[in-house]
Amino acid sequence: MTHTDPLPLAQSLLRCASVTPADAGAQAALADSLRSLGFTITPLRFGPIENFFARIGSGSPHFCFAGHTDVVPVGGNWASNPFGGEVRDGVLYGRGACDMKGGIAAFVAGAAQHLAKAPLQGAISLLITGDEEADAIDGTARVLDWMAANGQIPDFCLVGEPTSQVRLGDVIKIGRRGSITAKISVFGTQGHVAYPARSDNPVHRLVRALAALTAAPLDGGTDWFEPSTLQVTTIDVGNPANNVVPAAAHATLNIRFNDRHTSAALAAWLRATLARYAEKFEIDFSVSGESFLTTPGNQVETLRRAIADATGTEPRLDTGGGTSDARFIARHCPVAEFGLIGSSMHQVDERVPVAELRALAGVYARVLEAFRV
Ligand SMILES: [Zn+2]
Repeated sequence: MTHTDPLPLAQSLLRCASVTPADAGAQAALADSLRSLGFTITPLRFGPIENFFARIGSGSPHFCFAGHTDVVPVGGNWASNPFGGEVRDGVLYGRGACDMKGGIAAFVAGAAQHLAKAPLQGAISLLITGDEEADAIDGTARVLDWMAANGQIPDFCLVGEPTSQVRLGDVIKIGRRGSITAKISVFGTQGHVAYPARSDNPVHRLVRALAALTAAPLDGGTDWFEPSTLQVTTIDVGNPANNVVPAAAHATLNIRFNDRHTSAALAAWLRATLARYAEKFEIDFSVSGESFLTTPGNQVETLRRAIADATGTEPRLDTGGGTSDARFIARHCPVAEFGLIGSSMHQVDERVPVAELRALAGVYARVLEAFRV
């Protein structure tokens, strides 16, 4: 295997059916490849999940690449074997081709190109998890705890998620919005609709509270973020009778929020608003991530320049989309995300052109050089 070409490693990884939480040999294949480049591997198994940390070099700066070897389920009918690693007409097919086994293979090839060119000044590491696509409980967050306890927090971390939109190099993510879901139940007093004075209608209380929550925008956005948004996703009463005031009414809403908010402050606001309209209510919160931002400075500029030089495309700094494991990394060190064009991620016939995969390896090599690793 020539390590400077990402294709053979990408194919080996795609041939492992590593649908979360299965690993199916993916991390062993990756670790073997890294070992032959001189990396030291520390396996970090948490619960049912395989993870590892790999490092080469002891100098500074310490540059870390973060990625996941797990993939989402296959879904519908594919034209090619989703775990075959097949190349047809210059395109590599397979579940995980762009999200994100292709990105991982490109980083390993980029690191090999960098190591072949000049002696290492700093250190390169990889934070690899098998738990990104599901709950992310036994993955990146726990590997970071281990890294912090063992003096392995890097100076900068690059997550290799597919961030490019139309052309390789057009988008770098420097932050993400947070996400909180609230399941609301409002309780009243059941009764006959003809005698409303004897009942207390929770539906009326709930819709007034929701009207208040949606009456004004949460904010006007920031330099780097779109305005936060609140969306009511369902209102449920399930009352089969037209002559009964129900005892309870339920609704669910989700807020995607920028760095002007925290989930705790939003939860307090939701509670206070509900309390103005309902005497008896319950709210069940689930937070899938806080918002974070790596404020653009020298490191983001170095990354942006390296990508622009290698691709000929000027990257835009962006904070859109869903959450990613970068939310955990941001608590420890500066982090940005850059990778392949993500248009086929999670879809049937997920794929990446081999030329794009090889171009990304070259970009990652250029980034390592620019950071003087
Ligand atoms: Zn991913």
